[in-house]
Amino acid sequence: MEIAENIRTIAEKIHSINPDCRIVAATKTRTLEEIREAMDTGLILAAGENRVQELIEKFVPDFRWDFIGVLQTNKVKYIIDKVALIHSMDRLSLAEAVEKESAKHGKITDVLIEINSGKEETKSGIYLEDAEKFSEQLSVYPHIRVCGMMAVAPLYYGQDELRRTFDEVYSTYARLKNDTFRYLSMGMSNDYLTAVECGANLVRLGRAIFGERRVLQCSDMSGRQ
Ligand SMILES: *Cc1c(COP(=O)(O)O)cnc(C)c1O
Repeated sequence: MEIAENIRTIAEKIHSINPDCRIVAATKTRTLEEIREAMDTGLILAAGENRVQELIEKFVPDFRWDFIGVLQTNKVKYIIDKVALIHSMDRLSLAEAVEKESAKHGKITDVLIEINSGKEETKSGIYLEDAEKFSEQLSVYPHIRVCGMMAVAPLYYGQDELRRTFDEVYSTYARLKNDTFRYLSMGMSNDYLTAVECGANLVRLGRAIFGERRVLQCSDMSGRQ
């Protein structure tokens, strides 16, 4: 109930800014039951997982799954036939693996170029100024289709920096935009309204939909058989 309520409230806010913006639920640590409740609203485009193991364990073909987290090349084979869109394409070695596994399955895999918009050393992603070159490099792979960009802003950014960063990402996106390159996945629970105002048309929401993430307590463990 609460999950569906949250989604309806969020969708109303988002659609008042941009009616074409879609919501991807960030489903890490959430149960399949919680994910189903979210998907049943009809307001969620896809379940976005960021760990291969969790995706495999939860996967059901009833609705769409995206991959939004760091993807190791040796794990691409486990998810390639399950995901509709990989939001986190960030290096050529990953492109090589996605190309190889997609070819094996006779499918073309849609990907977004992940942008490291705060140039944080600990974060993955391509620098914004290198996005166009990376997109050209990806265009040689026949089983990969570059459908846009994904960006995560640093958590510590204030409103002004956040807006400036999202505006910069949007202007590069707008320059590269065409019939295929058409998604800007930008915005999480703490910054999604700003992201949508700045032109995002996909937002990835976890806590805003499902509430704060549960930490497994010792008391939870003791209740297990
Ligand atoms: C967890 C996660 C989100 C959602 O984060 P919330 O703050 O819970 O909304 C979005 N994108 C990625 C890549 C994530 O890992």
